[in-house]
Amino acid sequence: MTLNNQRNFSAGPGALPDSVLRQVQEAIVALPETGISVLGMSHRSDWFEQQLHDAENNLRSLLDIPKNYQILFLQGGSSLQFSMIPMAFLRGTGKTAEYLETGYWSSKAPKEAVHEGNAHIAWSDKVAGFRSLPDWGQLQLDPKAAYLHYVSNETVEGLEFKSEPKDLSVPIICDMSSNLLARPVDISRFDLIYAHAQKNLGPAGVTLVIVKDEFLACARNDLPSMLNYHTHLSAHSVYNTPCVFSIYVLNLVTQWMLREVGGLISMGELNNKKANLIYQALDQFPEHYQLHAHPPNRSEMNVTFRLKSSLLEADFLKNARSSGFTGLEGHRSLGGIRISLYNAIGLQATQELAQFLISQATP
Ligand code: PMP
Repeated sequence: MTLNNQRNFSAGPGALPDSVLRQVQEAIVALPETGISVLGMSHRSDWFEQQLHDAENNLRSLLDIPKNYQILFLQGGSSLQFSMIPMAFLRGTGKTAEYLETGYWSSKAPKEAVHEGNAHIAWSDKVAGFRSLPDWGQLQLDPKAAYLHYVSNETVEGLEFKSEPKDLSVPIICDMSSNLLARPVDISRFDLIYAHAQKNLGPAGVTLVIVKDEFLACARNDLPSMLNYHTHLSAHSVYNTPCVFSIYVLNLVTQWMLREVGGLISMGELNNKKANLIYQALDQFPEHYQLHAHPPNRSEMNVTFRLKSSLLEADFLKNARSSGFTGLEGHRSLGGIRISLYNAIGLQATQELAQFLISQATP
């Protein structure tokens, strides 16, 4: 059985759109506009300057990013943001930083913040195994906190906030690594958003930071250059050699979203349809499929569940592979099965997977 990208349900790096991959294939040998391989293009070239400019404009138009927000293309993945954020916004302030502990990834962030100051866990579902999320109204935050940090989509457990925070009166920082560009989001509710590429944005390498001017003004400026947001802002994200390839593909992905998908409203509708197909298939067989997330907090990007035994799970994965579906193994910390439905996964492949789920549960 031949595998194809449309049937790659991996949690990340995840599938990219076919039309983007075809352009990349050509660009690896020679970019049509320069005659040179994209892998050999200088980051100081006019061509790359144009890529950065276009990628930024496309993101601004897709996400309707207000003028008083800056876009930075950084490296070090989202994990580096776990450190850069408290270095810049917590160190030396004498304030507390509030963290929501809603899963594997959000638990990692405060562990880095404690090197810089006081990190307080404002809410946690660790004891119950990270199955639910808080309502915004139930949080009790220190009104003088340096910021609140949370993860909008827990990639490992498959939990997703369905609304953006409001009336919290502290600066809001959000890790949107696994659901940015999945649907419209009100950027003005946030002070800083970050998201690595390798899911909806493109291949691993670049990490996007969208930050409000007024908040950036509070960032420390006495940090090592590479860890200082001000360095990257004044160098327009080319202080050192950026990941040219990853930014190039991110630009193609944003073009695809604007021209082929038709923007974030259409993307959101499609993602909603895909997730409903999968959850409906699983919910028909509660005896067979044991879903991890509390239903109101289910993610549209990552669907996580277990079968009754690890033997059955191994069988399921084997059958999936022989039917051409890949990337379905759960995260190593949780086990089980995880279906990731990032933007590049189409409706047809999702329907096929839903049929497969039904077939596996019917004797
Ligand atoms: N946050 C989230 C929500 C993630 O899903 C991941 C990794 N998949 C990370 C942070 C860590 O990202 P990185 O590997 O780029 O450091």
